[in-house]
Amino acid sequence: MKLFNSLTQTKEYFEPLKRKQVLMYVCGITPYDTTHLGHAFLYIHFDVLFRYLNFRAFKVNYTQNVTDIDDSILEKAKELKTDWQSLGDFWTKQFLEDLDKLNVLRPTHFVKATDSITKIVEIIKKLVKEDLAYIKGGNVYYEVSKFPNYGKLSHFNRNQMLLIAGERGANIKDPNKRNQLDFILWQNSKIDEPSWDSPWGKGRPGWHIECSAMINQYLGDQIDIHGGGRDLIFPHHESEIAQSESFTKKSPLVKYWMHASMLMYQGEKMSKSLGNLVMVSDLLKKYDPNAIRLNLLSHHYRMPWEFDIKELEQATKFVGRIQKAISKLGPRGSTEKINYFNTKFNMAIEDDLDIPEALNVIKELLDKIDQGQDEQLKLTLKLLVSILGLKFIN
Ligand SMILES: [Zn+2]
Repeated sequence: MKLFNSLTQTKEYFEPLKRKQVLMYVCGITPYDTTHLGHAFLYIHFDVLFRYLNFRAFKVNYTQNVTDIDDSILEKAKELKTDWQSLGDFWTKQFLEDLDKLNVLRPTHFVKATDSITKIVEIIKKLVKEDLAYIKGGNVYYEVSKFPNYGKLSHFNRNQMLLIAGERGANIKDPNKRNQLDFILWQNSKIDEPSWDSPWGKGRPGWHIECSAMINQYLGDQIDIHGGGRDLIFPHHESEIAQSESFTKKSPLVKYWMHASMLMYQGEKMSKSLGNLVMVSDLLKKYDPNAIRLNLLSHHYRMPWEFDIKELEQATKFVGRIQKAISKLGPRGSTEKINYFNTKFNMAIEDDLDIPEALNVIKELLDKIDQGQDEQLKLTLKLLVSILGLKFIN
């Protein structure tokens, strides 16, 4: 199988660190608001990868986190006059319900950042001890100048990094910082904010260190696949590399970095700040979950695309065609044709998860089934659509 690695910017042959085992981590949600279609696009593609690796008999440890302590949750909780924990629990539950309806398998470990505070403190302690991090104004900062490869994932220069970090919520003007690109590992909690004990006083973790800690706690020092949306490449994933590799003294932290494209709607990136969100729960009221899934899978995970309700109507028809083909059984046919479709389907998936091409194989298979009722072909169809996580009854 080949996967496009953001680190090397090339498609590479996939060879896991341990034979027949895959360690995979995908950055999860920050649960302060509802699940939109952009989330579903990301997690459905990793769900197909998870299913396919399982189908190919790999033992996959798939860990996904919930960023349950973060500035955005605290702000939202304040705004709604509720506590951050019930807000997080509420939206995590909603997220899981939406994804369950879309037949997304639960990861092996679905973990909360607040359950890794001990690990977070352990990592920061070591970074401070080795002079890779410093304490200033009650906060602990990672010193990027101590990590010469900072920028190896995003391939950004310093000016680009400063610009993007500023846009994504980092305070580059923080006077405590030795270098504007240094980032927070541990911060002082304000009086009304939750806090945990640490050698640097009561406080809470920075965002990036949470993922480094959860990866280490649930998967180990080095992993095979790390996924997330493209917008996480910098500074989030870049910083994960710096912290983790400094802590473990092992490189690379991640063998294959996979980033999914952003979803557009009404001519712009679908995002909360622009207010152009399409909610999964709203679509589920009107459309078959299979159709929503199929619509999302008809776009390659690395290609930007714009959501269009007309495509969802077409996906609904496609789903109807598959359901019809699966429900009627005919006489047994030859296995030769089955091998042809299986191989072609697998080749598509193994070419950097080319699911749109895999769907073309399904279409070809449906045409073949239409020509003659062949039970073997229908069984093949059933198997292939199940790898894509589509659920049919027969
Ligand atoms: Zn993360």
